[in-house]
Amino acid sequence: MKLNVKNIRYLMSDDWRVLTATEMGSRNHEVVPTPLIAQIAAIRSGTGVHKCISNLAKIGLIAKVKNAKYDGYRLTYGGLDYLALHTHTKASTVYSVGNQIGVGKESDIFVCASETGKQLVLKIHRLGRISFRTVKANRDYLRNRQGGSWMYMSRLAALKEYEFMKALRQEGFPVPEPIGQNRHTVVMELIDAFPLRQISKVGDPSTLYAELLSLIVRLAQHGLIHGDFNEFNILVEEREESDNTVSLIPTIIDFPQMVSIDHANAEYYFDRDVACIKRYFDRRFGFTSDEPGPFFKDAIKIIVKRLDVDVQASGFSKKMAKELEVYMKEHGVDGDAGEVGAEEEADEADEEGEEGIDVDEDLVDDIDQGGVSLEGGPVTEDAPPSIEA
Ligand code: ADP
Ligand code: MG
Repeated sequence: MKLNVKNIRYLMSDDWRVLTATEMGSRNHEVVPTPLIAQIAAIRSGTGVHKCISNLAKIGLIAKVKNAKYDGYRLTYGGLDYLALHTHTKASTVYSVGNQIGVGKESDIFVCASETGKQLVLKIHRLGRISFRTVKANRDYLRNRQGGSWMYMSRLAALKEYEFMKALRQEGFPVPEPIGQNRHTVVMELIDAFPLRQISKVGDPSTLYAELLSLIVRLAQHGLIHGDFNEFNILVEEREESDNTVSLIPTIIDFPQMVSIDHANAEYYFDRDVACIKRYFDRRFGFTSDEPGPFFKDAIKIIVKRLDVDVQASGFSKKMAKELEVYMKEHGVDGDAGEVGAEEEADEADEEGEEGIDVDEDLVDDIDQGGVSLEGGPVTEDAPPSIEA
């Protein structure tokens, strides 16, 4: 799925109003009837609304859907991307967007920059991207469950990731600094490091190994299990020390699947995280520890803090956690396993032109020159109220 931010500069305040209106309408309409869009946007001239609608549809931010009962539009992933970026720009979190550095099954990762030129990461959650290919199943699913849409679920995933990152960071865990969250996106610090997967040699694997296992234990002592603690979600910085030795500094990322130590399968997830590290160090570095464990029961003997409970209180509720978990389970969202296959599927989806907007050559040039600024046409200050929960 591509992100073309070039058109963002050309959108006028009425375009933003109509785009926001379509988003608001999608809260309770899978296909938002055109008259409802016009009503929510409340633009005085009727022809004005239709012009905006056709502008937005032309650049793929909304898509026309012919329905048995009525015609209308739905917001596309591209449209949601624009709304989120627009908000980040207004909040001065993001100034420009550059290269894509990651494609997962459920997310796209871009480098972006703040107003002061600081490099950041923009993570766009795309839950349900794969299941768009089974459109019918998806429709049935939507019909049966209010609020169970990809948009809502992607937003939940972003909110969850942001809230956990904030809590972990505050407790001194090695995670990126969270900068902002809006809709289905999270903006965070760019870690200048590669995933463990790309590190071919480590001087002494036992130090890094022990550190990673102790992180799993420390997380549990804070009420949490990462749930996807693998070589793609551990970034390792090689830092040269004054005595010429190289230290490996890990940073943990990717939190939408985190679970509480109270989860019914907590022990299973804990053991799986531990096994993942053991297996990887064995296969990749030929390192096997003689020590058994760590074990879940021992890890939770000392509880330092309950971040799982804190996060519930601060904005990501138990109900949201449950909704997201059920959705992820039903859609087979289970971490980075099968990364390669995921990329192929994502490419296929692009070819089918289902969602998002294709990158054009000009944009690629712009990006090569250091990112595309998002500033442009007049920004609405009087846009309809945001639909943030
Ligand atoms: P996914 O849910 O798709 O696995 P991740 O959050 O794991 O998404 O990010 C995918 C990849 O993007 C990571 O493996 C890493 O290479 C890169 N990445 C993500 N966040 C950062 C960051 N803050 N700094 C540097 N690289 C990052
Ligand atoms: Mg990941």
